[in-house]
Amino acid sequence: MLDLSVKLAYAAVCPDGRSPSRYTALRILLVEDDSILANALSLALRQSGYVVDPVNDGTSADHALTHDVYDLVVLDLGLPGLDGMQVLKRLRLRKFRVPVLILTARDSLSERVDGLDLGADDYLTKPFDLPELEARIRVLIRRNHTTSDVFIEYGPLRYDSVGKRVMVGGQTLDLSARDISVLEILLLRAGRVVSKEHLTERLYGWGEAVGDNAIEVGIHRLRKKLEPAGISILTIRGLGYLLEKPGAG
Ligand code: CA
Repeated sequence: MLDLSVKLAYAAVCPDGRSPSRYTALRILLVEDDSILANALSLALRQSGYVVDPVNDGTSADHALTHDVYDLVVLDLGLPGLDGMQVLKRLRLRKFRVPVLILTARDSLSERVDGLDLGADDYLTKPFDLPELEARIRVLIRRNHTTSDVFIEYGPLRYDSVGKRVMVGGQTLDLSARDISVLEILLLRAGRVVSKEHLTERLYGWGEAVGDNAIEVGIHRLRKKLEPAGISILTIRGLGYLLEKPGAG
């Protein structure tokens, strides 16, 4: 059995500064019916900067995967409703290329092979260490990004989406993890208005409290930091926010 108190203490006191996950709003669907394990994993992964949507049965997982977009799925095999293999099979039939990490108490070779045949990307057998899970998650997410996704250029700004750095004229801007998450969302939709709802959805998982003005405060802070580079964040009343580079508009 995973020693949760030790694992959580580790996550709290030993954040891995090299992890790209700490600086982005990557979204993970966590499918686990053991509520103690699910709660502990949700908490730990959120502390590492992921947005986590927990579900505790296969049918809910299938529904979530039909209606939402995820960067990774952590999937238990023994589940009420559809089991993990069925969830995986249905997901792959829809041809979504979201990476899937299977989490299971079972360790038989045939199940491992079946899972990989059905399109799982990796396996982890319980009990496991949290740092091991996080390391595997980082590998899968990185592998899923092609090199063309790595750098985004916008006016004088160059964003390294793996290193989670923002450069202007060769200088790295001093941005917090949250600033970078917000900027990344705006950059991925540059030239289009990004609604407050979209920002909220990307930044927070289900059931997490979102302060009334959390988005406004985050935008305000980021706007000030981007000002010297000539990048503006326009507020489009009633619609959302629009990133604008120098010379535009
Ligand atoms: Ca289970």
